[in-house]
Amino acid sequence: MLQQTQVKTVIPYFKAFLLNLPTLKSLALSNEKRVLKLWEGLGYYRRARNLLATSKILINEHNSRLPKSLINIKKLPGIGDYTGNALLAFIYDQPTIAFDGNVKRVFSRILNKNENKIDFNKLIEINKKYLFKTKRNSDFAEALIEFGALICKPKEPKCHNCNINNMCKYFKSDKKFKKTKILEAKVKNYNIFCYIDKMKNKIALTKKHNLGFLDKFYLPSIKKSHNNKKIKNWIFHSNFKNSISNKKLNINLYYKFSLKIPSQHQWFSLKKNNEFIPSFTKKIFKQISKIS
Ligand code: SF4
Repeated sequence: MLQQTQVKTVIPYFKAFLLNLPTLKSLALSNEKRVLKLWEGLGYYRRARNLLATSKILINEHNSRLPKSLINIKKLPGIGDYTGNALLAFIYDQPTIAFDGNVKRVFSRILNKNENKIDFNKLIEINKKYLFKTKRNSDFAEALIEFGALICKPKEPKCHNCNINNMCKYFKSDKKFKKTKILEAKVKNYNIFCYIDKMKNKIALTKKHNLGFLDKFYLPSIKKSHNNKKIKNWIFHSNFKNSISNKKLNINLYYKFSLKIPSQHQWFSLKKNNEFIPSFTKKIFKQISKIS
């Protein structure tokens, strides 16, 4: 849940999740609909699907235990180098480091070198003896993440209160390295078309669309747009911006009252649904519900 999401946002979801699915077994015996409902509003829904799939694999193939090697742990859905190393350090106290943005920044400052010029795996290999000498590997992996977030912060690092400033090349150097600028995600334009049954207060949604990042979720008809607001037979409602995952969307919202809907669409109440509806679609519900 914490991938790309702040702790304060996650806490209520985490509590509700554990209340409903308190054990690995209960999760594995659950289903996608239930897990997505518990995840509703948290975004990045692939995480929920991966978590469910992983729980089933662990129960069925690993005797309910996480594998102990990076190679095998990475075979689980959604687990890459960062999560794999974090799990091995936190759970099995293995001598490894989870390189998230914070930790990469710490090492890159200590060396006063741009991140993309550092081979982080090689760095650990060469310095293994020193890095893991306390044998508190789990604490060390966690501490590095916290150190990057609280002391060696992206902006205005607290160098004068830093316990390792005597060995930090960034602190000591007059010629500090410059970070490569991350390119901003390009804004993409979309038109959304809402078929509305005014009498029953319903909207037509479909799972058949080309939005990869909201794959298999219910949305109104959505198409890439060329930003021309007037479209024959549709009423322009509003323009709004939305960010999903790392995508930035600029959306023109259209509607029409119609009982005829395209194939592969079905009606949903604008008020209450048992089906999982992503927050992206719920935001559209809010806007459309205001039409009198
Ligand atoms: S001295 Fe400053 S830049 Fe160096 S590790 Fe400490 S906080 Fe980071």
